[in-house]
Amino acid sequence: MARYTDAVCKLCRREKQKLFLKGSRCFTAKCAIEKRNYAPGQHGQSRRSKFSEYARQLREKQKLKRIYGLLEQPFRLIYEKSNRQKGITGENLIVNLERRLDNVVYRLGFAASRNAARQIVRHRHLLVNDQLVDIPSFMVKPGDVLKIKDQSKKMASIHDSVSKIKDSQLPAWLELDKANLAGKFLSLPTRAEVQVEVNEQLIVELYSK
Ligand code: SF4
Repeated sequence: MARYTDAVCKLCRREKQKLFLKGSRCFTAKCAIEKRNYAPGQHGQSRRSKFSEYARQLREKQKLKRIYGLLEQPFRLIYEKSNRQKGITGENLIVNLERRLDNVVYRLGFAASRNAARQIVRHRHLLVNDQLVDIPSFMVKPGDVLKIKDQSKKMASIHDSVSKIKDSQLPAWLELDKANLAGKFLSLPTRAEVQVEVNEQLIVELYSK
């Protein structure tokens, strides 16, 4: 499967904001945005006062893709699914991205980043409703119970990550049992509950052209 292999901090610098792609490093002074908050490359520091409508729409789409760690094709598939669903397409898009298994593993604190969460899923450390699931794009639904497999419960990286998550950081639509490394997806989140700084309407306008 294709994946992005270049330095991920460049993605944040391109969007000129923290996308939190590197776990705990993102909260330290080593974060590239703290040191060089301008786009990478030769013209990264040039100031452009005006962006075209298309450029604004494109940047929002790129930002959202990068936050959730998706390439164009899987992102587009989620968009198409969201567009077919009832309701507001942009809000459906955010909710569907939140339902991805790799994202739920990250939100529960089993991994420090979505990329690390994807590794947990792919390396078969996770059960959903007591069944092994190793597909990061698996869509979690309300009532689903996620558990780290018994054989994987000794993994220091998981314990380290989950020990850092505070109750106040846990989204309202999730329940976490730290002692048993288990969690429950209680309900679908609303757009207002998902703290992602993106104007999804611009993405809808881009794809609607
Ligand atoms: Fe982005 Fe994290 Fe790198 Fe900072 S450390 S630039 S937030 S990925």
